[in-house]
Amino acid sequence: MFVTGLKCFKCGTTYEMTPTAYTCPACAGTPGDDGILDVQYDYHALSNIFPDLIKKSGRYDVFRFLPLLPISEPTNVLPVGGTPLVAAPRLAARLGLKSLLLKDETRNPTRCLKDRATAIAVTLATANGYRDMYCASAGNAAISLAGFCANHGLGCHVFVPSEASQTRLNWLRRYGADIHVSTGNYDQAYDEAERAGAENGWYSRNCAFNPFLVEGKKTVAFEMGEQLGWQAPDLIVAPVGDGCTLGAIGKGFRELEAVGLTDEIPQLIGIQSEAI
Ligand SMILES: [Zn+2]
Repeated sequence: MFVTGLKCFKCGTTYEMTPTAYTCPACAGTPGDDGILDVQYDYHALSNIFPDLIKKSGRYDVFRFLPLLPISEPTNVLPVGGTPLVAAPRLAARLGLKSLLLKDETRNPTRCLKDRATAIAVTLATANGYRDMYCASAGNAAISLAGFCANHGLGCHVFVPSEASQTRLNWLRRYGADIHVSTGNYDQAYDEAERAGAENGWYSRNCAFNPFLVEGKKTVAFEMGEQLGWQAPDLIVAPVGDGCTLGAIGKGFRELEAVGLTDEIPQLIGIQSEAI
């Protein structure tokens, strides 16, 4: 593994890599920010050899990028990643753009980019002996976790806000998830999930808490870089949500630059639908 450790975004304290680490112990209890940890790698050692290593992997899923992931070996989870970058010339013309490409993440097992993070979380959970996982989510992340847990035979506990849509609840029921509908909003569901997770010893699939989820999500940037011949696009537009996806895309392109594959970081634009 090329992981060198974990570093707190807030106070800068560094820790040894522990596969079950969550937030920064030094920042614990700080109101509003518990100190999110960031996985650090030996980029110098990976300079120039990263493309060869990923080619030699012979894989087309997220584990293709194993040298820049916080796991030592792939697990037999649902196949995630390797999604196409689809040209949209008519939409580009309508928007006055020279070129527009759509990264079609609906090809993933539960039709969502979140599956990239879930693949890493399930890998770490099973490698460390967990049989149950949990998350708080208004939709996609919970559906992703429920789908993977159903496939892998893990217990899945999801905490959703009171306004969760029936369509999403139906998906969760079909996957056999243990569903907790909160009486409050997403923040309340999140607190309830963290409390239950700690009390029961379940493994967390909450982004911005478990530092390893972003590592799965950043593989979408690696794929885009490779599909463009190791060039960064000028601009990437992505949904904001809680910010983790956008942060992960940024980290992915920073890492491609750090290992000498690209020389630019794309401009990132976050968007959010007004509809629920
Ligand atoms: Zn800290």
